[in-house]
Amino acid sequence: MKHILVTGGAGYIGSHATLRLLELDHKITVVDDLSNGWQSAIDALSKVGDLTFIECRCGDYDKMMDLMSDHQIDLVMHFAAFAAVNESVKEPLMYYENNTGNSLSLLRAMMDSGVNNMVFSSTCATYGLPTPDQMPLTEDCPQKPISPYGWSKLWFEQALSQCTKANPSFACTALRYFNVAGCDPQGRVGEHHIPETHLIPICLEVAKGKRDDIKIFGSDYDTPDGTCIRDYVHVDDLIAAHLLAMKHLEPGVMQTFNVGIGRGYSVMEVIESCRRVTGHAIPAVSHERRQGDPDMLYNDPSKIQKAFNWKPKYEELDAIVATAWHEMNL
Ligand code: UDP
Repeated sequence: MKHILVTGGAGYIGSHATLRLLELDHKITVVDDLSNGWQSAIDALSKVGDLTFIECRCGDYDKMMDLMSDHQIDLVMHFAAFAAVNESVKEPLMYYENNTGNSLSLLRAMMDSGVNNMVFSSTCATYGLPTPDQMPLTEDCPQKPISPYGWSKLWFEQALSQCTKANPSFACTALRYFNVAGCDPQGRVGEHHIPETHLIPICLEVAKGKRDDIKIFGSDYDTPDGTCIRDYVHVDDLIAAHLLAMKHLEPGVMQTFNVGIGRGYSVMEVIESCRRVTGHAIPAVSHERRQGDPDMLYNDPSKIQKAFNWKPKYEELDAIVATAWHEMNL
């Protein structure tokens, strides 16, 4: 049993991590300022195991120092972040302040209190606009972000890498996520963003009658059906990668892994999957391209497969979508 600090544990991915960690009997402290998280997720998680919730920014150095001095924290899983690319273009400073600034304060508190283990949520947005010949993406693809979001995450990756070199007791793994989707199959926690910008939840909102249609952002990409291709990984498979990363931390080493299943689906294929799963027509309309979308992004999962023997349980899109649809209908 470990005592794990989960930042952003009331949000989509953090709440799924907290759920699994509680099921494994770890003691969990969630720190979340509820800017993108939900009290209802904390209430649901409190029924599962030993959970303490502190409502504050993970970048509040004094509070994090108090927490880490009063309790023996074994590891930090750091999810708390803003993650909307478009918003980051409009409000870059907000992204640097939160994703980089608050993360640096958290790291400072860890260093000052001797908490030496971190698993960090990074993103394939740190790769920018890879060319089609760079697909599938490996971890050594050059990191050239094209959005403040991507930069805000890359800067913290850099800080982690340099701090790990300077401090041989510090161990860290950054997981670079592809498109995370789906929910806990029992629907105890789910995916809720305001405003919602992600493809699968929006399609499901159309099926629920909350929206009229889904807008396809670009139908003239260099892909077989003209719509963008992405790699959708189920949130439970992503969390399984976190559990493995936690197990394989090595002092003085910063490890990085992409987490995506290694198979791409087009926007059109996602819409068709949502139609099959929901039995709803889900009207789709063509729309102009969204800024900064590469034609295709999908992962080469060999590194994480080899290092951790990680294998996704969900490889079919319909199965991923079905878990999200189930949660939405509870
Ligand atoms: N997308 C779309 N309509 C929407 C939302 C998304 O066509 O209403 C497209 C988007 O342009 C991208 C893909 O769906 O090609 C996945 O987008 P999402 O925002 O879900 O994730 P991202 O790839 O930005 O992390």
